[in-house]
Amino acid sequence: MKTIGLLGGMSWESTLGYYRAINEGIRNSLGGLHSAKIAMYSVDFEPIEQLQHAEDWEGTAKILSEAAKNVQAAGADFLLLCTNTMHKVAPEIEAAIQIPLLHIADATAEVLIKEGIESVGLLGTAFTMEQEFYKGRLTDNYGLQVQVPDGEDRDIVHKVIYQELCLGKTASDSKEEYLRIIDALVTKGAEAVILGCTEIGMLVNQVDTDVRLLDTTSVHAVKAVEYAIGDIVS
Ligand code: GLU
Repeated sequence: MKTIGLLGGMSWESTLGYYRAINEGIRNSLGGLHSAKIAMYSVDFEPIEQLQHAEDWEGTAKILSEAAKNVQAAGADFLLLCTNTMHKVAPEIEAAIQIPLLHIADATAEVLIKEGIESVGLLGTAFTMEQEFYKGRLTDNYGLQVQVPDGEDRDIVHKVIYQELCLGKTASDSKEEYLRIIDALVTKGAEAVILGCTEIGMLVNQVDTDVRLLDTTSVHAVKAVEYAIGDIVS
């Protein structure tokens, strides 16, 4: 079994979900007392969030590249960046390490393609919903059509992530807003909706709607488990 590298803390609330999902995945696959071999580096999110909102992506890349090197040095065979947004600087992180990075958008797109979905809605931070590093990867590499919410709704989705979910708060009115926005994406033609922020699964789940939801935390965790036990040695 390979050692899974986690670069987490963005936010730590969602890294908890990764830790649980990966360990449950290994237990379900291997049985007994098997658990995941994990090397994790969890960052302080406050300075990262400030750099994000100042659009200082180079600053975030520096911090995360150093952290990724630490994960590699701790024995990880591959790396998961436990956030959608910070895949903005995935190329810089990949350049700093020798182990592979399993990209969260690739893991998500592979599931969509397998399910025959062509048009998908995307919820996430404004960076993820509006910039090309994520949407562009889905459209250019996988031929998917990507729908994002209208301006005001994008603001709501973004604010709930930073002002509530990353602080561990889940509010019922925010949940209602998210479900309304998910329905609006379906009206625009989405056949499924990507929960493209690793905290959204804390608020909205598949049981809440008939719309097919792809929670990127669980999709990414499943991919990591498959990759880790691809060649079960040791
Ligand atoms: N965890 C979130 C994501 O998946 C947002 C926090 C961050 O900006 O990294 O995008």
